[in-house]
Amino acid sequence: MNLTSRIRIGTDNGLKFRHNRAPFHRAQYWLPQVRDDHAIPAVQIFLTQHAFIRICAHAGSDLQNEVGGWLAGKAYLDKETGKPFIVISVALPAEFTVQGSASLTFTQESQVKLHAILNEDYPDLMLLGWFHTHPRMGVFFSEWDRWLHENFFPEPWQVGLVIEPYSAAGGFFQKQEDGSLNTRCYFGFHELFQRRRRSIVHWRNLIPAENEMN
Ligand SMILES: [Zn+2]
Repeated sequence: MNLTSRIRIGTDNGLKFRHNRAPFHRAQYWLPQVRDDHAIPAVQIFLTQHAFIRICAHAGSDLQNEVGGWLAGKAYLDKETGKPFIVISVALPAEFTVQGSASLTFTQESQVKLHAILNEDYPDLMLLGWFHTHPRMGVFFSEWDRWLHENFFPEPWQVGLVIEPYSAAGGFFQKQEDGSLNTRCYFGFHELFQRRRRSIVHWRNLIPAENEMN
């Protein structure tokens, strides 16, 4: 089985962007306290509270080693602005092979498993990116992270979330509108409420912003 072609099959789904209205009215926008206001992300990220809880539970499951997984959901074009946005609704913990103290990769076995889960359990969802932890290291993309992201998640609508579980911090790395990927500049996200409009985001490096994006 050719793993690369399987992954490409996954990303090709991205061409089928649906038009929808971005759910700004049901979300709280979280921004990094320290940020570059000139950096414009290629897509707006909506993260469901359900997925956020799954991510945090997995991130806290091992405070000695890096852990991580995949992010899945749907990609859309905003009906009004024509701009792309993604809704991450599923976080799938993955098994990693440790490459060293500060780097890891997805095992081939876990990637095969991922695509089986996506095909069988979530056939209507796309692979939108990945997440991993940096225990006691901070929120940034290492050179290895960048390599992994650019090779496995090359689309502008695919994102990489880094979580620092000790200090309760996190941020999304993603391509900017000009196609660049800054390994020191992370972005926030829109917390998508389920029923009640009550936030559960506790990452201390992010601050709530007014939701006047549309
Ligand atoms: Zn990393």
